[in-house]
Amino acid sequence: MIKLLSIAGSDPSSGAGIQVDLKTFQALGVFGMAIPAALTVQNSQGVLRVEPLSGQLLSRQLDALLSDIKLDAIKTGMLLTEENVEAVTKAVKKFTVRNLVIDPVLRSSSGRMLMQPDAIGVLRKKLIPLALVVTPNVPEAEALSGISIGSDQDLDFAAGKLLDSGPSFVLIKGGHRRGPATDTLYGGKTVLTFSTLRRKGEFHGTGCVLSSALTVFIAEGLPVEKAVEKAKQFVDKLLMTAEPVGKSRTRYFHF
Ligand code: PLP
Repeated sequence: MIKLLSIAGSDPSSGAGIQVDLKTFQALGVFGMAIPAALTVQNSQGVLRVEPLSGQLLSRQLDALLSDIKLDAIKTGMLLTEENVEAVTKAVKKFTVRNLVIDPVLRSSSGRMLMQPDAIGVLRKKLIPLALVVTPNVPEAEALSGISIGSDQDLDFAAGKLLDSGPSFVLIKGGHRRGPATDTLYGGKTVLTFSTLRRKGEFHGTGCVLSSALTVFIAEGLPVEKAVEKAKQFVDKLLMTAEPVGKSRTRYFHF
């Protein structure tokens, strides 16, 4: 049995965060676990408030789980505070977690800050170096690398800068750029691009589902290149059946 853990924010509307991570794990047939690093007040119209759990509580939860259960992989999402980034870093080192996927969530699509500014540097310096794969979108790659991304060359520079800090792979998601939805994977023998048609409309939790599916395929033993391809196909299929759940037109994935 493959056992995975998500450490991320809680989204009560369950289209993002630990809730959708668990749905993804379930849909793909693995045993999922989840630790909330922060709570959000949220509905389909956006994030109204964020509240962290303490770093100490997160550490306790990580110690309790990891000292008991042998995990095949861990993914992180919204961690919100420096304390929480430190707590995850400590646990990843202590329990030598190898399959670590980091979705460096900084902001919601609705514009709410999901990581405090002083936590971003700690994420970059301490946690990202321990990752197998980091999955920033373009604004996140810009914030983490300090490079503003306009051209494909900028994308390469930003990825190079992130790779230099230590993760094995960087997948920059191109959803915020024009044209087809093209994600670019750096870190293997060659740079690989993965394109799907751009689906019309607004979607909630796309990054969470992609990184969770990627974590599953990595834990199943696929090479990262193949795992990215399968995760991207998984998300693309869900985009076609996604539906609004509340008053906003934002569509949610339905498994
Ligand atoms: N809430 C939580 C807990 C999240 O982790 C995320 C994104 O990762 C969001 C909200 C925002 O999701 P989106 O930007 O897809 O609306």
